[in-house]
Amino acid sequence: MEAARVCAERGHVVTLFEAGGQLGGQVRTASLAEVRRDILGIAEWLESEITFLGVDIRWNTLADIDNVLAEDPEIVIIATGGLPDIEIVPGAEVCISTWDALNGVPLSGKVLIYDDHGQHQGASTVDQIAGSNLDVELVTPDRHACAEMGSSNFPMYVSRFHHKQVKVTPDYRLIRTEPGSEKHLAVFENDFGGGEFMETRVDHIIVEHGSLPNDGLFQLLRPESGNDGITDYESLLDGRPQPEVDGFVLYRVGDAAASRNIHAAILDSRKLYQNF
Ligand SMILES: Cc1cc2nc3c(=O)[nH]c(=O)nc-3n(C[C@H](O)[C@H](O)[C@H](O)COP(=O)(O)OP(=O)(O)OC[C@H]3O[C@@H](n4cnc5c(N)ncnc54)[C@H](O)[C@@H]3O)c2cc1C
Repeated sequence: MEAARVCAERGHVVTLFEAGGQLGGQVRTASLAEVRRDILGIAEWLESEITFLGVDIRWNTLADIDNVLAEDPEIVIIATGGLPDIEIVPGAEVCISTWDALNGVPLSGKVLIYDDHGQHQGASTVDQIAGSNLDVELVTPDRHACAEMGSSNFPMYVSRFHHKQVKVTPDYRLIRTEPGSEKHLAVFENDFGGGEFMETRVDHIIVEHGSLPNDGLFQLLRPESGNDGITDYESLLDGRPQPEVDGFVLYRVGDAAASRNIHAAILDSRKLYQNF
């Protein structure tokens, strides 16, 4: 949406394909946690701006190579985001993602959240599900919960974890999970060499490990593009336009490039703006 906004501000005719019936992607998922509901304002503001600027939004339209090329575009920006990266250990098929939990997958009994990301994804999910008759434990290989969060954000979560009686276990890395007829098994090793293994049996295992780029369309479009999807960084850093190419120029922004955050998705999109 930020790429669409800045392109439209510069006078380009912009078409935005959205696979679903709502804009906002992961920001919308983030806002499903009660404690983060206001984050939706970012997506709502961008949507109102691109609507005001006359961006042609194609709702419920999965962009593919055919419908993109049919537009005969000069510039294609891939902002297809990421997908939860949860298959990180043997037996991971029993695990679900923080996105699943926030979207209301039914949970009961004992719930383990393994978070080696240390950001809002894991913490807000813990906060959302704790205190609803679930026995919630957060395990992290970091020295403490919310390790990658700034100091203005993490105290709120830690305080809420205490109030909601969430058990927090630091220093342990998940190495294996196993399905069980009654409960699933999670096996950890101590990341600092002490205590060796720890095992726990739970009803649900939620894994937060960031996302993997959803970049299939970008890879398919690369050979069709004039720049092979590669941004010329010398021009970018010098504040010069990208080199002229035959055919359309292809870029990707946000989590479609790498698992990051809202700031990165917006900055990626603004950097391109300077060079059209
Ligand atoms: C629970 C949670 C909490 C988070 N909290 C924060 C936070 O506090 N701060 C922060 O900075 N970041 C946070 N993030 C991360 C942040 O939301 C993402 O990094 C950011 O949204 C990435 O933006 P994006 O536009 O690249 O992709 P996404 O947000 O993933 O959006 C991709 C969009 O593309 C659409 N799409 C995909 N494929 C196609 C296709 N082929 N055709 C058409 N449309 C398609 C999707 O429907 C979606 O609307 C959080 C993420 C989650 C899940």
